[in-house]
Order: sequence, then structure tokens, then C-alpha cells
Amino acid sequence: MSDTKPTGPRRASGTVEAAVVPTDGGLAGTVSGNRALAIEESLIFEQGEVGRCGVDLPEPENFKPRLGGLERKGAIGLPGLSEPQVVRHFTRLSQKNYAIDAGLFPLGSCTMKHNPRLNEKMARLPGFADLHPLQPDSTVQGALALMDDLTRWLKALTGMPAIALPPAAGAQGELCGMMTIRAAHDAHGHNERRRVLVPESAHGTNPATAALCGYHVDSIPANDRGRVDVAALKAKLGPDVAALMLTNPNTCGLFEPDIVEIAKAVHDAGAYFYCDGANFNAIVGKVRPADLGIDVMHMNLHKTFSTPHGGGGPGSGPVALAASLAPYAPLPWLVSGPDGLRLQEQATGAAAASIGRLKSFHGQMGMFVRAYTYMLSHGSDGLRQVAEDAVLSANYLLAALKDTLTPAYPGPCMHECLFDDEGLRKYEVSTLDFAKALIDEGFHPTTIYFPLVVHGAMLVEPTETEPKAELDRFIAAVRGLKARLDSGGADRLRTAPHFSPRRRLDETRAARQPVLRWSPPAPKQAAE
Ligand SMILES: *Cc1c(COP(=O)(O)O)cnc(C)c1O
Repeated sequence: MSDTKPTGPRRASGTVEAAVVPTDGGLAGTVSGNRALAIEESLIFEQGEVGRCGVDLPEPENFKPRLGGLERKGAIGLPGLSEPQVVRHFTRLSQKNYAIDAGLFPLGSCTMKHNPRLNEKMARLPGFADLHPLQPDSTVQGALALMDDLTRWLKALTGMPAIALPPAAGAQGELCGMMTIRAAHDAHGHNERRRVLVPESAHGTNPATAALCGYHVDSIPANDRGRVDVAALKAKLGPDVAALMLTNPNTCGLFEPDIVEIAKAVHDAGAYFYCDGANFNAIVGKVRPADLGIDVMHMNLHKTFSTPHGGGGPGSGPVALAASLAPYAPLPWLVSGPDGLRLQEQATGAAAASIGRLKSFHGQMGMFVRAYTYMLSHGSDGLRQVAEDAVLSANYLLAALKDTLTPAYPGPCMHECLFDDEGLRKYEVSTLDFAKALIDEGFHPTTIYFPLVVHGAMLVEPTETEPKAELDRFIAAVRGLKARLDSGGADRLRTAPHFSPRRRLDETRAARQPVLRWSPPAPKQAAE
């Protein structure tokens, strides 16, 4: 009977994090490892027992294998579980997924996080959902018309004459845009243009894209107001510069007020101006990128036009192109002719200079339907209000927290507000500690340590869809944690989270040495 002593969380031996680490005289821990209704969940293989079966299958009669000796020799090793056990396992797993449907997601650099249910309904209409990408164009005229109308909206919102729909994400949109720039320079015989200027606050995908296109990346410093240092930028321009890649609003959540002057300087130097439009939701309907002098810009339908992020669905990164770059747009081109709309698949005729295919078929059709639904349900004035509300929410947070945390830069922000760790350092508490403490308070942490130009960055993006009451709850939690620091509670933050089933994980080890294969635990020792 001595093997029944509590062993903490139900995990296979060897994978158990110290079961419970009492930090407040044991009060934080429970004997089961569960926290209130947050139930410890082991792998399904650890729960089931091989040989136990949830289904009754009759033994086959007179069964003769016909696999010519290739039949399985050993047991298949599937866990034996009843149907309720399986249902509970997966339901509990699904509940561990903190989601926008569960609460506030203050992550910055993600922009909007609203997936309207109407989008899902439209995307499931059989006329869209049951199409096959290889169907003849004549049988999918409605879907092509939707794509055409989506590009019309994107042209109106950007002021650009051409839209490439295929790219599958923002990062691929960048690749698409930079490939058109490379193709344009090549077509004009400007092979000497090998340098691409990228501000140091840029998203990592910007320098990666430039490098992938064969360019040398040259970093431009930020000034003390979190903007591009225009003098430093101008000093770096020259006959070997292919392009500038600039994000606006930038990754510090700030508008680049000198953007028109920057565009002119870039063009005067014979280079193109690539804009990373991942933060377009902050200015959509307010300003047209073409009017700022931008030559090419990707948009993330999942950041500006309400299609799902990350695990919720494939991304989509359409690219808006100026007339000078439009001839190089990727295939297929959506063109209208005497028989209606069709997809031009070959680099011939007007599309002869195309960079070719970037993506199978024509892009993420399901995302086009969702984004288009969102546009129609808001209208142009509604989209403008989205931008205004997103900026208002972020400034509300910034104003409410400016004396609690330390804002990284003076003045108002755009769609996200940025703090540094200056106010935490005197307590010897890090940004990570603060983020972990937010988990205990029932909030997903903010983006931390990005952008890299700010020490211990906390980037907070409330978005346009959070009600004021929810923002106030978040503000109260942050202020409460700060008050705890002021009353000598730094230790408690340094060891947070206290109430989540898993606590501080070795993220570096998990990334560098991922354990991707489950191995059965060693057979149980006989009872002492
Ligand atoms: C998200 C983001 C990207 C990359 O977009 P994906 O769709 O995730 O590939 C690029 N730049 C910025 C500024 C971003 O925020």
C-alpha cells in the first residue's frame, strides 16, 4: 500500500516538474497538483492502458491476412480508453488554450484579434466552401468576383493601382514585395543596388526577407523619440541602395511623422520604398499609403481585416503595388475578359515580367471571404472607426498606466503602447516576472522583450474591440501588481505564476532540445 503516497501531478516519471512548489507556507499547493478547476492533464498515452479497450469488436472469423508477410508483428500500442475518457481528455486540453474567446489578449505587434462569427458563416457557404481550386474559371465566377471586389477595396484603402492576393502571410508578402523590387532593378540593369536599409526597430522578418532576396542589410538607428533617425537614413542612401523597408506605424507603436520626407529622399536616391503594413489597422481609412510615397506594402488580413491568427487559420498577406512595380506581381493574375473573370497562370502578355508563382493556386480563398465579409459589414466609415478606436484604446491604457509603468517614449501612441523596465529595476523584478504575475491575475501576458530597441520592453495592444470595463480590469491588475511591489512583495512576483498548473518552463531548452517523441515510462517498481 505504500505506493499510494501523493505524487503530485499525474505525469509519466521523468517528465514531472517538481509537483508543487509551496511558496506561501504550502497554501499555494494542492495535493493533486490541480488548481481549483484547472485540472492536471497527462498525455493520452499515459492515461490509457494498452489492452484495455473502449469498444467491443468481434473477433474476425476465419481471418487470413493477405498482406504477404507485411502484416504488423507487434502490438500497435494505442492507449485503451473509453469514449468519455477520450472526450474528457480533449475537452480539458481545449480548455487549456487561452484564446480571444476566453479573455483579453494584450499582445502587441499582433494588431486586431477579433474574428467575427459572421465571417465564419460566410466562409462556410457551400458556394465558397465546396469549390475546388482546379475547377475551370467559368464555374467559379462568383468566387473570382469576390477576389476582384476584395482587391478593389484594398486598392481604395491603399491608393495603389495593383494588388497581389497570393502571399500566404505577412512574411511571404514581404518576400513578394521585395522580389518585385529586385525584379524591377534587374529589369533596369541596376545590379549594383545591393543594399537594403532597415530600421533597427523592425520586425525580424524585414531583414530576413531582404537577405533572402540576396541583399545586404544595413541597419538605421532610431532616435530618442523611437522614430527613424532621418539624418542617419539620408547619410546611408546612395547608388547601391535598392530599397528602404520601413514599418508605419512602427513596431514601437509610433507614427513616423517624417515619412513623406523619407519617401522623397529614397526616391531621389533611385531606391524603392517598401512599407511593412502589418500595423495598417491603426491607419486604415485615415491615410492612404500611396499618398505617403510608398511603392509597395503588404497587409496582413489576419491583423487588419479580422481573419484568424496563428493556429486559428492560415494567414494571408496581400501586397499593394505602385504602377512601377505592378508588372512584376506574382502569378496568377486575376484578369477580366470577354468571358468574365479568369486567372492568368502563365508569364505571357501583360504578365510577361511577373516574378512567377509564390504559392499554390491563387492564395487563401477562405481568408478572402472572411476579410471581404468584414469590409462589407463595416463599410469605409466603419473601418476608419476601427483605426480610431484601436488608437483610442491604446492611448487610454498608456495614460492610465504611465505613472505605474515607465513609458518607453514621451507623447501619445498609435494602436499599441510601449513600456520599458526602468520602473521595475529598483525592485529587482524583470519584465518576465511581471508578465508571469499577469497570468496569476487571469490575463494573458503582454508582448515582452520586443521591440529590441527598448530595454525589457512590454508592448501592449488592447485593440478596438475591448470594452472600457475590460481595459479597466487590466489596468487595475497592473496597478495592483505594482502596489504589491511597493509593499515589499517582489519575491512573490519573482516566483510567479503561483496558480497555473505549469509555472516557469525552460523555454530555451524546449526550443533547442524539443522532446517530440513520447516513450513509455519504465515499468512500475514492485511495492515496497
Ligand atoms: C506580424 C508582423 C509581420 C509578419 O507577418 P506574418 O503574417 O506573421 O508572417 C511582419 N512585420 C510586422 C511589423 C508584424 O507585426
